[in-house]
Amino acid sequence: MKKQVCVLFSAVMVAALLTACDGSQKETGEAAGNAASEAGTEAPEAAGKITDGTYEGEGTGKGGLIKVSLTISNGELADIAVLEHEETPGFADAMDELRQVMLDTNQITVDGVSGATLSSNGFMEAVADAFAKSGGTEADLAAKEAAPAEERADSYEADVIVVGAGGAGLSAAITAAENGAKVIVIEKMNNVGGNTLISGGEMAAPGNWLQKEQGIEDDTERFYNDILAGGDHEADPELVRVLADNALDAALWLRDDVNVTFEDYMLFFGGHSVERSLVPLNASGVELIEKLTAKAEALGVEIHTNTPAVELIQTDGRVTAVKAESDGKEIIYQGNRGVILATGGFGSNLEMRIANNPDMDEKILSTNSVGSTGDGIIMAEALGAATVDMQYIQTYPTCDPETGTLLYVGDVRLEGRAILVNLEGRRFIEELERRDVISMAVTEQTGGVSYMFWDEASMEASGVNVKHEKEYNNLIERGLLVKADTVEEAAAHFGIDAAQLQKTIDNYNQYCADGKDLEFNKRGELIAFTDSPYYIMKTTPAIHHTMGGLKINTKTQVLTKENEVISGLYAAGEVTGDIHGTNRLGSDAIADIVVFGRIAGEQAAAAE
Ligand code: ADP
Repeated sequence: MKKQVCVLFSAVMVAALLTACDGSQKETGEAAGNAASEAGTEAPEAAGKITDGTYEGEGTGKGGLIKVSLTISNGELADIAVLEHEETPGFADAMDELRQVMLDTNQITVDGVSGATLSSNGFMEAVADAFAKSGGTEADLAAKEAAPAEERADSYEADVIVVGAGGAGLSAAITAAENGAKVIVIEKMNNVGGNTLISGGEMAAPGNWLQKEQGIEDDTERFYNDILAGGDHEADPELVRVLADNALDAALWLRDDVNVTFEDYMLFFGGHSVERSLVPLNASGVELIEKLTAKAEALGVEIHTNTPAVELIQTDGRVTAVKAESDGKEIIYQGNRGVILATGGFGSNLEMRIANNPDMDEKILSTNSVGSTGDGIIMAEALGAATVDMQYIQTYPTCDPETGTLLYVGDVRLEGRAILVNLEGRRFIEELERRDVISMAVTEQTGGVSYMFWDEASMEASGVNVKHEKEYNNLIERGLLVKADTVEEAAAHFGIDAAQLQKTIDNYNQYCADGKDLEFNKRGELIAFTDSPYYIMKTTPAIHHTMGGLKINTKTQVLTKENEVISGLYAAGEVTGDIHGTNRLGSDAIADIVVFGRIAGEQAAAAE
């Protein structure tokens, strides 16, 4: 497969890519199967010291085992297929990128993808392991010049240019196209999706269909108050009002217009006063991005990947174009009606993080896509745009303590069926508290980690071992999750005080029987732990969401420090600030990106 520098995505390609990203597809690169089987049927041929053939190799990436097969033909790298991996989608893309560079240059040691060091190293380790079996050394591989990139035009023209192909950008692009605009989306990574793709995709929607079925009372006013209180009343009430009032409509749009499948259960995210969060198919952002991309494509939206925007261009005070770069070439994207920034947050930009909040340094792991580097904020600031709340950076409290990856097995907590304890075997916080509050409490515990405890009945009720089977197996293999017949045995695995843990569980069970958690006043239904085996998972906080960003008005127009509109420039999604205040509640981001993405699309399409 030749390197894609400018791709008009087809739904089929996206589906294939996303399946590969999901880790559920066993191969990367459609040519892989053919080349490997051809090589397998031919007699191995010697070229230098390298023997032609197909070899398998293993390495350890961010998510665990990476297994590849390498095909050598005429002494050159002919194909590399990823047979197995557990990398999350954003990091799986790094492997795709490296694979292409290796094939283009006929080298197996290449520069890693920045921000995806663990995945890059694991992939290179696996390829080196496979290559070693060919009998050759790296010196036997004749380096090649990478093939010249596909010729790109110097400029493109559309009504609306959207920068960033995550959830906000795609929602904006679809809506602009539905309103009659010709739309081009430019995306800096080699695939669409951003943080949205690697999220669980859950979406808060007050008054939704599942709440109605279950008799849960909810309304926009309640959601509005939850968002404001959850962010310590730091958010702009006007923007919160727009979010609260339009979240349900956005969910219905996703379901009915974009064809997103939602599961038939909800999750109760910390800080919400009622259970209101819808869950897309397989509790994964992959469902959202796959369907949004297919819808955009059906409407004729062009998506140019590997195309980072670098500058916004103003003509007579109005933003009319975006300067982008692709393989060293400068390209101008003219947006006659407007430009929408949907470049996400800055969780992967260490310098920007520390500049805004010195506590968020390199010691803190991150759940973020490598593309979340604050580019949109920087480009708009160059035009005088104001930023707001930049110091508020959220950590997700229960991530992989070795890699920072979000752990979806931990959703058992969000179903109200797990407690968090420390090494001393004691609970230390309400398990459904806000993310920032739990994170802060975890950092104060021994080793800066927490241990999530649950029982077999909770496992069965939540099904997290089935829904997130790969992650579950990977955690067990790496010893970060233990399943044991007794509490004592489970505690011993991590050196937790078993006697105290048993007391903690007995107390908790008593609270459940009494219907009131006397220690932490845990919200929701209290369900006792009754059934062996027991599970304990070790977790730590990791950077997850940057609440700050560009200041916008309710029409998503980007504002200056003087509150003046920067004509022609719109922004939606994590690139914006003042929507969540000091702290974003779980599942509010998807509501945010779809609600404001749609407004941005509508506004830009309607601009003269
Ligand atoms: P949101 O949730 O706000 O949609 P995401 O993180 O899901 O944010 O998506 C943001 C997208 O923007 C990512 O795919 C990211 O790679 C892309 N992006 C970031 N910076 C640039 C840039 N300079 N040019 C083009 N795309 C960018």
